[in-house]
Amino acid sequence: MKIQLDALQPFLFDQTPIRGNIVHLNNTFQLALQHQTLPLTLKQALGEMMAASALLSATLKMEGVMVLQLQSKGALKLLVVECSSDLKIRATAKWDGDIGDVLFIDLIKNGQFVITLDPTEGEPYQGIVPIEGETIAEMLQNYMLRSQQIDTSLWLDCDGKNASGLLLQKLPNEAEHDADAWNRINILADTVTNDELQNLASETLLTRLFSEEDVRLFEPKFTQFNCSCSKAKVGNMLRMLGQDEVNSILKERENIEVNCDFCNKHYAFDKIDATALFASEAALISSYSRH
Ligand SMILES: [Zn+2]
Repeated sequence: MKIQLDALQPFLFDQTPIRGNIVHLNNTFQLALQHQTLPLTLKQALGEMMAASALLSATLKMEGVMVLQLQSKGALKLLVVECSSDLKIRATAKWDGDIGDVLFIDLIKNGQFVITLDPTEGEPYQGIVPIEGETIAEMLQNYMLRSQQIDTSLWLDCDGKNASGLLLQKLPNEAEHDADAWNRINILADTVTNDELQNLASETLLTRLFSEEDVRLFEPKFTQFNCSCSKAKVGNMLRMLGQDEVNSILKERENIEVNCDFCNKHYAFDKIDATALFASEAALISSYSRH
């Protein structure tokens, strides 16, 4: 059985209300970070967050984007991963200075985890929790239990080239005929090694971990790196800065230059662009006021 890279494999236990996902990110992970020079610690943390974002997104019915943010006040400022409901992923980090040898757990001390669900239609929902646990997986498990009241278990690994993960989630129990199932399945899953998680095909991994259980596999879904930035979105950001601010920057230089934090794409707005930006806003306002 060949491992399927950049794919998410959903599965369900036949006898007990537990579902799961397995994900293997290879190109998705590497392309997402190819324009960023990151310390290995942050690269691995982002990889684990990317795997987790795909695993969690696939459990939601929502159409839209899930944003995972780890915010801290020390040398590490911010880790961000975004995953859309069709598993398009992007990621970035902000930090200060040299964090080469600092342990991840020390980087995120006093930090917080912010999860935003931004549906295509409707209002965004944001949950904020203090960081509890020493790994990304533990933090997210605690978040899911405290903030969402959903029993969720995660195993994540990133070796700097690939990011992989396994998720188990307890479904709302109609019948508790197998009350011990959640514990039993978790104990079995907990024997998974990073090597197995990274290198085994999903079917092989599930057979190895849960040989006594009936596991049903669904069609895999594919992941990819995709940055949703555009000149129009950067333009909106400049509109929010306001015309005065934009004009005063353009007095000092020819262009306003903006680089996308996620994909490093370069956007430049000169005076003509800026005029068009606010002219279209003025037109919009006057067209509103006419009605
Ligand atoms: Zn971009």
